[in-house]
Amino acid sequence: MELSISNLSKTYDNGVVALDNISLTIPTGMFGLLGPNGAGKSTLMRTLATLQECDSGSVFFGELDVLDEKDAIRRLLGYLPQDFGVYPKVTAYEMLDHFAVLKGLSNRARRREVVDGLLQQTNLFDVRHQRLGGFSGGMRQRFGIAQALLGDPKLIIVDEPTAGLDPQERVRFHNLLSDIGEDKTVILSTHIVSDVADLCANMAIINKGHLLVCGPTQQLIDEVSDKIWARFVDKKDLAMFQQRHAVISTRLLSGRTLIHVYSEQDPGDGFEEAIGDLEDAYFATIAGRHRAAAHCG
Ligand code: ADP
Repeated sequence: MELSISNLSKTYDNGVVALDNISLTIPTGMFGLLGPNGAGKSTLMRTLATLQECDSGSVFFGELDVLDEKDAIRRLLGYLPQDFGVYPKVTAYEMLDHFAVLKGLSNRARRREVVDGLLQQTNLFDVRHQRLGGFSGGMRQRFGIAQALLGDPKLIIVDEPTAGLDPQERVRFHNLLSDIGEDKTVILSTHIVSDVADLCANMAIINKGHLLVCGPTQQLIDEVSDKIWARFVDKKDLAMFQQRHAVISTRLLSGRTLIHVYSEQDPGDGFEEAIGDLEDAYFATIAGRHRAAAHCG
């Protein structure tokens, strides 16, 4: 089911404009909401999860008015917040069983079936009798997904789920998410570009409360793929290159400084054509160098 967000705005009491007239349409499947820290992602996720009020705008999930019919939307919603706290002394099974009771699964046998199934799906069945306090970050996040999937939600919101996970756990978490994505609307909010590149067919980039771009991920990549140029530079020359070119990223590669610039034509100066990827599209968009054509909403 499609989620339609129209003209959503939120200014906090301290004057910070966290969401500035955001309009976008999120189709079924995995959708990536990408932006740096402070972009407004959590504000948007919490608003969609009915946990926070906005100042103006509307949100519809299919026919359902998300901002108005909160109870109805909560029945369709699975949410993994950024700071998912657990009771450290309780076991995974006990905690999930408790959440299942809260979700209205009162029949014991049926509940056991559901809880066991979710623990299996998230690869936590073997550790189900261990206390949550002893879980690693990755196990905790997978447990967070298990609780978010209770009640067979149609809309799933996960806020910064892979921050702090080691590469192996990130891959595991990606596999888990990609398995649930097909017939549900899953919104993955993150500042990690590879999360979106790996998982999401559609995406948006927000920064400072503004929607910068929204559309199919591949289209965003295609738009920049022939406009990215790369070269290694000496650190002492970096400032000079930054002055002369539209540098969108600087990274160390085997101890050397590699810069990427955005340019419609060959920028000269020893740059070589690079094949632009989502990271380039993201940095070029955030830096205001690239104005993407892909739009939705
Ligand atoms: P993100 O999730 O992308 O990091 P947030 O939605 O958490 O972004 O924050 C967006 C902006 O709103 C930031 O400048 C942040 O400092 C500010 N902000 C978030 N929550 C509050 C709050 N409760 N009160 C005041 N400012 C807030």
